[in-house]
Amino acid sequence: TDTRTVTVIGLGPMGRAMAGAFLDQGYRVTLWNRTPSRAAELVERGAVLAPDVAGALRAGELVVLSLTDYAAMYTLLGTAEDALRGRVIVNLGSDTPKRTEEGARWVTERGGQFLAGGVTAAPSGIGDPASYTFYSGPREALERHRAALEVLTRVDYLGEEPARAALMYQIGMTMFWTSLLSFWQAVALANAHGIKAADIVPHAATAVAADPGLFAFYAARVDAGNHAGEADRLSMAAASAEHVLRTMADAGVDTTLPQAVVDVFERGIRAGRADSSTSALVEEMRA
Ligand code: NDP
Repeated sequence: TDTRTVTVIGLGPMGRAMAGAFLDQGYRVTLWNRTPSRAAELVERGAVLAPDVAGALRAGELVVLSLTDYAAMYTLLGTAEDALRGRVIVNLGSDTPKRTEEGARWVTERGGQFLAGGVTAAPSGIGDPASYTFYSGPREALERHRAALEVLTRVDYLGEEPARAALMYQIGMTMFWTSLLSFWQAVALANAHGIKAADIVPHAATAVAADPGLFAFYAARVDAGNHAGEADRLSMAAASAEHVLRTMADAGVDTTLPQAVVDVFERGIRAGRADSSTSALVEEMRA
């Protein structure tokens, strides 16, 4: 197998960063994108823009997809199903574990091999060995193309079950979107009081720096079913969350997010968990 040739389909910010990293390492790169103009700069650097999806698939064995979701994969690869035979399709786009499993079956039924990936870095982190991507799917296909995939990020292989990488990716994104949204919420409050976003960055960083220690502390207790509230009673947390909500409301800032936090805490209290740790909310969420 020629393992120095790669096709990249999907040239959003992420796909462009990936194609650029392959070019930097001297790979022969073939591209396809719905909006061809996004390939211009990469073509100047030596990539080849295929005339159609089938041409892009036929350029080599390794095909990296960087699309918005799995629906886009069917739209594109559905026009060139015959060219899937013998290809290793590596879908690095985000979607649910269920849709990833269906996508794996769809490609496999058409004679291709399928690897799912969840990229935990931003486009600026592509090509940085400190970045990592979760992969799952056939081990032998991953090992054959490991060197190429490591051009993008470190490889964190989670086994053969195709949906696993998507699951681990979504576990991370659950925290990513809510914590980023919590920062926008904090900025809105600061701005409402004439404070600039840049002026709260050190405070915001301190507020989240405590998280890794808390995760480790709580994880061991949660896994053991221990929700003793000796340090953080839910009744205290609910009162504190209500102070956040009132502060937002008094400033005229949107309250959707802080109201949701209060709602979850109050549900825990109604379930009789006022004297337990906030970790007891996991029991409510699982239910
Ligand atoms: P974009 O959504 O900006 O770009 C995705 C690509 O998908 C574009 O090339 C777009 O084509 C194509 N596309 C979308 N829908 C269709 C369709 N129906 N038919 C054909 N082509 C379609 O995403 P990003 O590049 O930012 O990210 C790609 C993937 O990587 C996403 O799944 C994202 O969740 C994930 N990711 C992104 C990160 C980021 O920071 N950006 C970080 C980690 C993961 P066109 O150019 O024609 O619009």
